[in-house]
Amino acid sequence: MKRAGIAAASLLAAVGAAAGQEPPPAERGDGVRVEARDASERPLAREIASTFPALSREVEMRLGFAVGGEVTILLDRLGDGGPHPDGPGGTVALASADSRTIRLDPSRLGLAAPLRSVLAHETAHLLLGRAAPGRLPLWFEEGVAEWVASAYGRADRAALARAAAAGRLPQLAEIAVSFPEDGDARVVAYAFAREAVATVAEGAGAGALRETVRLAAGGTPFAEALRLATGQGPEGWEAAVRARLSGPGLLRRLFEGNPELVWLALLAVGGGLVVVAVRRRRRAAAAKLAATEPPEDEPSPSDADAESAEGPQPWEEEDDEEDAFPPEVTR
Ligand SMILES: [Zn+2]
Repeated sequence: MKRAGIAAASLLAAVGAAAGQEPPPAERGDGVRVEARDASERPLAREIASTFPALSREVEMRLGFAVGGEVTILLDRLGDGGPHPDGPGGTVALASADSRTIRLDPSRLGLAAPLRSVLAHETAHLLLGRAAPGRLPLWFEEGVAEWVASAYGRADRAALARAAAAGRLPQLAEIAVSFPEDGDARVVAYAFAREAVATVAEGAGAGALRETVRLAAGGTPFAEALRLATGQGPEGWEAAVRARLSGPGLLRRLFEGNPELVWLALLAVGGGLVVVAVRRRRRAAAAKLAATEPPEDEPSPSDADAESAEGPQPWEEEDDEEDAFPPEVTR
């Protein structure tokens, strides 16, 4: 073992020397070192080194576990062929609890994956992975990580509400070992896991989540640990989260975390009211006009004479029923 390690280290050193490479420079913060493979990512490394210590302490306080040593964060491109990258987008970061390492791909950060929420999510994995390695179902680990991350800006509640309305929610048992590989189903799996953990935390308290992890770490099977710590097993909590995602709560959740949807809805309702009001005014004006005198702008006098003798005017009917957007509305 030791000899193989030394051989590997000297091989790496030789390769590095041959390529004329220095070891990547590291930025340091309290309890964290951040390595940037690319010099252009040094500012991001500095930002992480300065913000990660407080952020990771918040996550430790929230979950009640400690990382217990220095965390290494590697800023590096994550290939698609390596270990399965983490997150609803599938490709932003991954955590290795054994080595207290987070690999983060800066090119994949963005609006859907804000830096702080990604770091909080991966820190939760470090804590759970060290507290109860291999003892927790995937939905619980990812659910806790997303529950923590959502405090820093990531929540896919609209996708979850749409899936609930369409009857496309997964079963917790289906996402206990692996998540869907890609697309909307993956986003929904993360969001559903988050919602399940949020339901447990709100129903039984964050301390019950901690107790579940402690019991599982001590060898109690997870379902039993959850039952002992929270009063309900996975089936009970699954029913609770499904109830929460149906009925009157569903519409509220659709708008939660998506304030732009509220403005779009208000605009749509306002626009609809304007169209209705304009059409009503036009209808009243047309009826008044028809009652007093024949319209002046007839295309052909002979047609007008024939129509007015028969009763209702063709233009009147069209305006009332057919034209969704009569030309006058756009004035
Ligand atoms: Zn994760």
